[in-house]
Amino acid sequence: MSLHVDLKHRFRDFAVDLDFEVPEGITVLFGRSGSGKSTVIRAIAGLFKPDHARISLDGRVLCDSEAKLFLPPHKRRVGTIFQDARLFPHLTVAQNLDFGRRFSRRDVPEREVAQMVEMLGIGALLERRPDGLSGGEQQRVAIGRALLSGAELILADEPLAALDEGRKAEILPYFERLRDEIAIPVLYVSHSPAEVARLATTVIALEAGRVIGEGAADLVLSDPAVLPVGTAGAGALLRATVHAHHADGLTELSAGGAALFLPHLETPVGHPVRLRIAAQDVMLSLDRPTGLSALNILSGVVSQISPTQGAGVLVVLDTDAGRVLSQVTRRSVAALNLREGVRCHAVIKTVSIARDNIGA
Ligand code: ADP
Ligand code: MG
Repeated sequence: MSLHVDLKHRFRDFAVDLDFEVPEGITVLFGRSGSGKSTVIRAIAGLFKPDHARISLDGRVLCDSEAKLFLPPHKRRVGTIFQDARLFPHLTVAQNLDFGRRFSRRDVPEREVAQMVEMLGIGALLERRPDGLSGGEQQRVAIGRALLSGAELILADEPLAALDEGRKAEILPYFERLRDEIAIPVLYVSHSPAEVARLATTVIALEAGRVIGEGAADLVLSDPAVLPVGTAGAGALLRATVHAHHADGLTELSAGGAALFLPHLETPVGHPVRLRIAAQDVMLSLDRPTGLSALNILSGVVSQISPTQGAGVLVVLDTDAGRVLSQVTRRSVAALNLREGVRCHAVIKTVSIARDNIGA
């Protein structure tokens, strides 16, 4: 199942012009505020009529301006989740779910409802009304309602933005289960690099209504062309597997044959993990440094040097473990005489786990 979007629209002060594909898994639409993310979501959901658009879901046309075809929102089989859950306040959780189910074109068997309730962990909430639930619980019910309505695509427009850190942490795993257990595409809007790192199979980066980067999450997120979007969060996303748990409390990961060490992880040996290494946590050295407390040093070749704002430079290093970014000063680049093709070493201060199990 996949979504194809070809969209051009002009508001008085803003235009979108983009063409992209959303495969199965979670595709994150990433971009700063005002880049056009919600406009894209609203066009797909059918909440406004674009000037020019052709939007199709697995060949089923939702909107084709040439053919003057515009399916109304309730006929699109698209479930939309907004920042606020938008549940019906006078209905219980069970009734809210049932409302979604009535929109489905087929009879959703009880068994399937039960599975959904189990997956979202909302079994204990069924008889309660939305105003008694936390924001995270409300969002889980909203996801359930969207799924039970027979949606063939889930749109989520910054679904965690209104939640505090604790509630975010509570709901992220459910989006991961959506990604890993349900074979329908999810288009998820976010401007948080951490969220992207954790959830995305695919990333589409937007800037001023245009796509400036598109593809596998690890590649797009480490592409300097995309980084103006989230310079503060610039970093690499690496895929690794748990190699060993050592007696001194460290866990050893293997990423493309390179070893990386972290404080103990609960993840069993052999399991995949996603790592995030922030560019500001990586120093560069021409020689392999010794006598350092840093545990993780990766050797690689400089593939790109891009200026960022101020005195900063972003250096892209291709290592066996994948692409690693380092945020250094122009002065360091000059002092080390760094150029494309130069071999050097990334000294990594902190590696954090983006998430166990990448699902793909
Ligand atoms: P994002 O979700 O990335 O923050 P939006 O898609 O909400 O961005 O908005 C992008 C731009 O489009 C903004 O400058 C906004 O003012 C403009 N815009 C969005 N909707 C409308 C509208 N209905 N009429 C006029 N301008 C709009
Ligand atoms: Mg928005």
